[in-house]
Amino acid sequence: MKYNITLVPGDGIGPEIVDAACQVMDKVGEQSGHSFHYTSVLAGGCALDKYGIPLPEDSLKACLDSDSVLLGAVGGPKWETLPGHLRPERALLNIRKEMGLFANLRPAKLMSVLREASPLREDTAKKGFDLLIVRELTGGMYFGKSGRYQSEGGETAFDTEAYSVHEITRIAKVAFETARTRRSQVTSIDKANVLESSRLWRETVHKVAEDYPDVTLKDMLVDNAAMQLVQNPAQFDVIVTSNIFGDILSDEASQLTGSIGLLPSASLGETKRGMYEPIHGSAPDISGQDLANPIATVLSAAMMLRLSFGLSEEADRIENAVDKVLQQGLRTRDIAWGGPYIKGSEMTKALLSAL
Ligand code: NAD
Repeated sequence: MKYNITLVPGDGIGPEIVDAACQVMDKVGEQSGHSFHYTSVLAGGCALDKYGIPLPEDSLKACLDSDSVLLGAVGGPKWETLPGHLRPERALLNIRKEMGLFANLRPAKLMSVLREASPLREDTAKKGFDLLIVRELTGGMYFGKSGRYQSEGGETAFDTEAYSVHEITRIAKVAFETARTRRSQVTSIDKANVLESSRLWRETVHKVAEDYPDVTLKDMLVDNAAMQLVQNPAQFDVIVTSNIFGDILSDEASQLTGSIGLLPSASLGETKRGMYEPIHGSAPDISGQDLANPIATVLSAAMMLRLSFGLSEEADRIENAVDKVLQQGLRTRDIAWGGPYIKGSEMTKALLSAL
């Protein structure tokens, strides 16, 4: 099969790590008879420099016309003082919106060889964990009515958390479907003891669960979930939650793994087409020095192969190659903690030979 992938390398270390992921995909493609055709487009700060806007129309069109999108990262100090509509991040928000990507999937796995990097208690880290957060991405508080008005207390501001049955149903389905490919457990996180929107969330998730009798569903209040993630993260398989709770909990979960240079993510919509990106930013402090760890982007490419193209075996091969190089003791600077380290390009070479 031939797959068309639009690349959005972006700014800072983005081009280095996207290039590494393409080399890995090409190697896997060669081995399995699949080919990947890439179209690279500008978005973010580099597009602002060239065209004066963060997301040129042609770049967006290339994303919409592709089988999936692989993104590096956008942004950097050079563009930080621009007004909101001209910020590099606007490119990401617009791509997500136009592609109808309402589900953000963030796996967080504690690799046994990197246990010492986790801030968890030693006995908790020893048990390890492998969880996936499914966060609703286009609704809730970040998109609800907000504003300011004068009240007796002076200037007052408000934001609104609103969710429809349609929005909750479609994100719940993503969680249950994904759980079926893992350990068949879903934990739905809400604040149903206080919020009406959470009560509708809970009722709706339970309704969706009726279609998935093979998947176990558990509810958890968000304050408890924040504690449980630190106390016993091994209990979680798939977590499904709202935009704002998911934003906070996914950052917490990622820190438990000890390195943001290792974590991939996927954003999905109604179709198979998605956008895949590392969770870290453009790391301007190390850009152009060959110090960027390519693993998060390489694992994002593996997620693309599995979730958008149905190439699970090829995705497994990439993930096994990552495990192998880490088992061999190879480390980029971000995960070397003062010990010896190799360059980003050497890590890519090691991944290619592990394949
Ligand atoms: P960052 O994730 O870019 O960097 C935080 C720290 O982690 C830095 O010390 C960096 O060197 C290190 N780091 C990050 N990725 C690494 C990798 N692959 N290998 C080795 N080290 C790595 O976060 P930041 O510094 O807060 O943000 C920098 C810029 O990135 C900002 O402009 C921010 O807006 C943008 N950003 C973009 C995205 C995105 O495009 N999705 C996400 C977050 C931040």
